[in-house]
Amino acid sequence: MRLLAFAIAALAAAPVAAQQDLSKVEVKVEKIAPGVAVLFGAGGNIGLSYGADGNIIVDDQYAPMSDRILKAIATVDPDPVRFVVNTHWHGDHTGGNEAMGSRGAVIVAHSNVRTRMSSEQFIAALGGRVPASPAGALPVVTFEDGVTLHLNGDTLHVVHVANAHTDGDSLVHWQKANVLHMGDTFFHKVTFPFVDLSSGGSIDGLIAAADKGLAWSNETTGIIPGHGPVATRADLAAYRAMLIDIRSKVAAGIAAGRTLAQIQAGKPAAPYGMPDGFIKPDQFVAFVHESLTKPKHRH
Ligand SMILES: [Zn+2]
Repeated sequence: MRLLAFAIAALAAAPVAAQQDLSKVEVKVEKIAPGVAVLFGAGGNIGLSYGADGNIIVDDQYAPMSDRILKAIATVDPDPVRFVVNTHWHGDHTGGNEAMGSRGAVIVAHSNVRTRMSSEQFIAALGGRVPASPAGALPVVTFEDGVTLHLNGDTLHVVHVANAHTDGDSLVHWQKANVLHMGDTFFHKVTFPFVDLSSGGSIDGLIAAADKGLAWSNETTGIIPGHGPVATRADLAAYRAMLIDIRSKVAAGIAAGRTLAQIQAGKPAAPYGMPDGFIKPDQFVAFVHESLTKPKHRH
């Protein structure tokens, strides 16, 4: 929990990541399907495809984690990392891009990921500026709707979902291994979702992303959330139901003419626990309220 709070806070002020003691963070590897593993460390969960064609990773955490991430990958498969797919632009998912790219990996992401990483950003919810990323960290292959990788005997569908956690989110689906990486459209157990409204996120897009994830999964799908433990389709369905329930309560409050403070006083998120997560229940309610009353983006 503390780690997640730190992880997200650090993306608002990249130098903080270097000051904090990331040196004690271990990278843990969990194999979840043939040819697929998840790496847990500091920052977003990394999906790993390994096999005869080399390594493909989905997200790469913070720059100071890169050596340990590469060592952890080597314990699974000694081949180099050929591709990095970024699920979105946040620094706890893209901080390793420069190190991976300098070793020959091709960085792939939605075009809005490259656009946001190319200039200074401001995340209002965290009150922080994020400097532009170095040129070597930028995705070199970008797409609008999606791209498909045919490697390691599997088919990896990378598909953009509009205005969810940000405006550049992608889900990654391993067709044969039956694994789905949701990026930060899915925070599992550790905290209420972070809807980055400054980066084009929205509650309705978040719900649509969950719908897409549900459509792509079945009872045996291994679902990798952006943060938190590996989940099942039932977990994702419960998450979607939570989003719908809180959204409907906030929308009813708005329709009844209540203020945000009045809606928060009704504690619409309280039944779902997680009072101490990085995103507090009242803050999530505020995200939903702002998303419904001041939509910045159409999708
Ligand atoms: Zn994020």
